[in-house]
Amino acid sequence: MTFRVTILGSSSALPTVRKHPSAHALNVHEQFFLIDCGEGTQTQLRRYGVSPLRVNCVFLTHLHGDHVFGLFGLISTLGLLGRRTPLQVFAPHSAEAMLRSHLQYFDAELPYELQVTEVDTCKHRLIYENKTLEVWTVPLRHRVPTAGYLFREKTPPRNIRKELIPAYGLSLAQIQAAKQGRDITLSDGTLVPNAVLTYRPYVPRSYAYLSDTAYSAKAAGLVAGTDLLYHEATFMDADRRLARQTGHSTALQAARAALAAGAGRLLIGHFSSRYKDDAVLVDEARTVFPAADAATEGDTWDIRPRADDTMPASEAVSLIGRP
Ligand SMILES: [Zn+2]
Ligand SMILES: [Zn+2]
Repeated sequence: MTFRVTILGSSSALPTVRKHPSAHALNVHEQFFLIDCGEGTQTQLRRYGVSPLRVNCVFLTHLHGDHVFGLFGLISTLGLLGRRTPLQVFAPHSAEAMLRSHLQYFDAELPYELQVTEVDTCKHRLIYENKTLEVWTVPLRHRVPTAGYLFREKTPPRNIRKELIPAYGLSLAQIQAAKQGRDITLSDGTLVPNAVLTYRPYVPRSYAYLSDTAYSAKAAGLVAGTDLLYHEATFMDADRRLARQTGHSTALQAARAALAAGAGRLLIGHFSSRYKDDAVLVDEARTVFPAADAATEGDTWDIRPRADDTMPASEAVSLIGRP
């Protein structure tokens, strides 16, 4: 029932010795997803204990190098490691041509299939699902077509209240029917509503990744209620003119997005290398949204399941690993 994200890279375009460009690894029920793949992502995966072979899908927000350059090396390495399982890549238009060109020059005989799906960056669409998870695109406002991603756990099957099985003398078939959401009619004709027999074991969890983008009220609305929001904050608010010109956000704007979304917690990153201390950006964000932190390489944020909505999402999200 794991739902956690590990920060592999948090910087913006200019590489520094302290930080790596954008990449997050998301673990949902032991299925691994990579969000953005900046240069050096494959070594970051190894450094923080995620086997590259376990990555199921890669979601690229946009085709700027600081979000993409690591994918070419990762594709080649997975070939060297003898991967057989297809690797799915979701990315904006032109990704297919870009990756085919890479394959033609460097990986003409990969032992696995690279499946590329180009996403419509203007639409909020369900683009991927498995038994436990849905992934939705979130249109963003950047200089090139860009999509954020919303990772949302599916509503879990309802659990039966065990004490009611003997009380009502439920058969196996009736228990199965109740778990599927049906009301049950007992042998004496009494109808027992499903809400009496079963309960939702936990509130579905979600993680939203919005980068790169200028402030977008629409994007904040599309990720409303997310437990954990990652929002880029390239600049301080004093440099908001620069942010507007370059299609980026300030720390204050990222905090406003978290507030508008009603997020549980906020992580900010993609800081410009002009700021030597992340704390000034975090402090600025906290003036508007106190549950804000910097996305830092190696940090793992865990979202615990909540039994119901009485426990605030902010309390369910915690930092569980820092190297
Ligand atoms: Zn970027
Ligand atoms: Zn960009």
